[in-house]
Amino acid sequence: MNLKKTFHLTVALLVMIMTTASLYLSNTTLYAAKFSDDPLDPVHPAFPKEVVLIDVGHGGIDGGTSFQKIVEKDINLKIALKVFMLLKSKGYYAILNRSNDYALSDDNHWLHSSSRHLRDLAQRKELSRQVPTLLVVSLHVNWGKSPSKRGPLVLHQNEGRSYLLADAIQQQLNLLYETNQQPKLGKPFYILNYIKDPAVIVETGFLSNPEDRAMLTNPRKQLVIAESITAAIIGYLMEV
Ligand SMILES: [Zn+2]
Repeated sequence: MNLKKTFHLTVALLVMIMTTASLYLSNTTLYAAKFSDDPLDPVHPAFPKEVVLIDVGHGGIDGGTSFQKIVEKDINLKIALKVFMLLKSKGYYAILNRSNDYALSDDNHWLHSSSRHLRDLAQRKELSRQVPTLLVVSLHVNWGKSPSKRGPLVLHQNEGRSYLLADAIQQQLNLLYETNQQPKLGKPFYILNYIKDPAVIVETGFLSNPEDRAMLTNPRKQLVIAESITAAIIGYLMEV
């Protein structure tokens, strides 16, 4: 997660207030867990129930953090796909906001801003508004100046349910990483400020740390990370 992103906050707000164009999701690749087969299903034909929205951090030309040829966007996608499959296999409705390597800003046909970054962020927010979401889990990988800094970190909104969700995910990941980190208030992050549903950012580990890097790039460990996140999401959903 790049802290510089907060730079655009004020501009983003202004643009969104001024943008009254009708909003649509024409080309967005929604990867729906389950579509309704009942033609009389009420409310929304594609999303009959509230879903878990998995926000796959970065994509396309926005790679996120990197180490040599390892790029954050690819790790986020691999873990996200596993979380998606696990939730689906347990009967939960889930969607990914990208199921391949592209920037969300390429899907944004309604916000005519020259800033790709702004369109990207606005698309994430708009998707959570259009799709009936139970909660939003945004997946990222961390980077620290010191290579010894390691472990998962979950960021939450200034809101009770978001904290509960963050805490559930943090505790599960702590068990896996053998860390003792507490979730933190993710104050400057756009997605936490502008999404209404309980939303959290999961920094699954530090790409700058050799131990974390080995985990984050190992498909079997990615599955275990995804299992931990999924278990925490389900635990949270059963409690609220
Ligand atoms: Zn990131």
